[in-house]
Amino acid sequence: MTERIRKFLTRRRREDGPCLVLDLEVVRENYQAFAKALPDTRVFYAVKANPAPEILKLIADMGSSFDTASTGEIDLVLAAGATADRISFGNTIKKERDIARAYELGVRLFAVDCEAEVEKVARAAPGSRVFCRILCDGTGAEWPLSRKFGCAPEMAPRVLEHAHRLGLVAHGISFHVGSQQNDVKAWDRALATAGAIFRDMSERGINLQMVNLGGGFPAKYLKEVPKVQVYGRAIFKALRKHFGNRIPETIIEPGRGLVGDAGMIEAEVVLISKKSDEDDVRWVYLDIGKFGGLAETMEEAIRYPIRTPRDGDATTPCIIAGPTCDSADVLYEKTPYPLPISLAIGDKVLIEACGAYTTTYSSVAFNGFPPLKSYVI
Ligand SMILES: *Cc1c(COP(=O)(O)O)cnc(C)c1O
Repeated sequence: MTERIRKFLTRRRREDGPCLVLDLEVVRENYQAFAKALPDTRVFYAVKANPAPEILKLIADMGSSFDTASTGEIDLVLAAGATADRISFGNTIKKERDIARAYELGVRLFAVDCEAEVEKVARAAPGSRVFCRILCDGTGAEWPLSRKFGCAPEMAPRVLEHAHRLGLVAHGISFHVGSQQNDVKAWDRALATAGAIFRDMSERGINLQMVNLGGGFPAKYLKEVPKVQVYGRAIFKALRKHFGNRIPETIIEPGRGLVGDAGMIEAEVVLISKKSDEDDVRWVYLDIGKFGGLAETMEEAIRYPIRTPRDGDATTPCIIAGPTCDSADVLYEKTPYPLPISLAIGDKVLIEACGAYTTTYSSVAFNGFPPLKSYVI
């Protein structure tokens, strides 16, 4: 926890519900670390990770560009003061009227992963640049992105050639190696494929310019993760290996890696109980769960560090659950979480590294619980 967050929390009213407190200074340092680790790469912040206006304004002023998924996100980025030439409409699944709206606002860079999407972009955003997303298996990632986005690498040249024929600029290739990617070598495999597509395209007379290296840079939860510099070096090495001295223009789209460790959630213990006298695990119910913003605990994928006022006391395995009336609202059960035996109802707990993918995931009013409060300081 940063000193600024600690001070903020001591001034907060005790009876307030759960809240995220995010320290902009950490975002600033993280942005600088990315800029330094990959000096020739443009940063397109993945807005969905945390679209707080203060974050967008800070990094827009620092020179960041933005990866957006909807016209709502595009509006937020423009309101933060970034110009449309710093926006990528990176969702491969777009309504044609949203593409048209983005085009009207000045956006000229779009993601595609099939011919039908190319046709939409060609009609609604003529002459724009498109990049084709290829599938990545997500090995090594704690939050892999499955097969929903991207096409098989063999299909990409056909998609890009189609774009070229329809008057678009076949600009490049993108991939996402899976979120919270702990293996710095994951980019090497994807870049090998990207390099092959570049060569195939050039044989067809089309010279691609850009590789979008996606996100995947981790936040530190319970396990140590490699530093951004280590990712930077591994990526540069892979670019050299697969593109020789014709290294393309590159961009990265960090979300979690930029804001994850900048925020923490203060929550409260609502109930501690056992299901039977013989039960050796306790149930600890917090005032936040999957529907209050901790959706990434789905299948216990992301395991947040949790601090209590009684750390240091002897611990016991606990099942941690949220406060709603949905039985899916259990955070950690398959692998119970050690918490102090002395933990008591009413204690405040701190859930660390919650700056990414929390406020945006919190529900509107399930069971009448308000959405997660957020303070950006
Ligand atoms: C979500 C997303 C990102 C950000 O991923 P992180 O793993 O949070 O860095 C980047 N690019 C695209 C296209 C995304 O959908």
